[in-house]
Amino acid sequence: MRESIQYKTEAEIELQRESSLLVGKTLAEVAKILKPGVSTKALDEVAESYIRDNDALPGFKGYGGFPATLCISINDEVVHGIPGDRIVKDGDVVSIDCGTYKNGFYGDSAYTFAVGNVSEDVKLLLQRTKESLYLAIEQAIVGKRVGDIGYAVQNYCESFGYGIVRDLVGHGVGKNLHESPEVPNFGRRGTGPKLKEGMCIAIEPMVTLGRYDIQQDVDGWTIRTVDGLPAAHYEHDMAIKKGKADVLSTFSYIEEVLKNQQ
Ligand code: MG
Ligand code: MG
Repeated sequence: MRESIQYKTEAEIELQRESSLLVGKTLAEVAKILKPGVSTKALDEVAESYIRDNDALPGFKGYGGFPATLCISINDEVVHGIPGDRIVKDGDVVSIDCGTYKNGFYGDSAYTFAVGNVSEDVKLLLQRTKESLYLAIEQAIVGKRVGDIGYAVQNYCESFGYGIVRDLVGHGVGKNLHESPEVPNFGRRGTGPKLKEGMCIAIEPMVTLGRYDIQQDVDGWTIRTVDGLPAAHYEHDMAIKKGKADVLSTFSYIEEVLKNQQ
């Protein structure tokens, strides 16, 4: 992570928006084929082709040695799952995180999908994790602090007894995939770095149905819950503004696809 916060000009924010929107469009393409029976590798191939067809590069591929375009994390996997031969099954909870790189800027956004018949408990976990992201975004404005964002996620999710992953956090985003400041999903109001115009951050609640403890698989990437219970992960990029954050990424393309599948 870059140590000092990188402030962006309006022109740079517009370039960043293009990368962030492309992530949402890519995840919508993935959503179209996300059904029981599809392999995670097939999802990854669709994403990589779509990104390259849009004159961009997969933002994660090769990052720290990560081998794929998407991080696909199923059920008790929280984040950083590697696509492969695994077949998606009815009832799976599939978190898909995607990065793009275009015009010198990264987009980074994630969405968790319920595939087929998922229990009511898990549906609520997904819904509330997404809601916590939007509550956090309300805090992502000039004059607030990073701790206000974390508090918003933690306060809401813990009220349902969920776990807030501690070891992984949101971050600044821009010319680098991960920049300062770190943006935890837990915290105290009025603490942490001050939010200022020109900052672009990714907020990404990682919320578990049980305890928040996580462990890494021997593959060196996949992060899963220790208690084996499912997790949800949603992520948006935004530029800090006065009064209201300018959300650069979008779920609207994804949710349009999901609506048409019902
Ligand atoms: Mg991400
Ligand atoms: Mg991120």
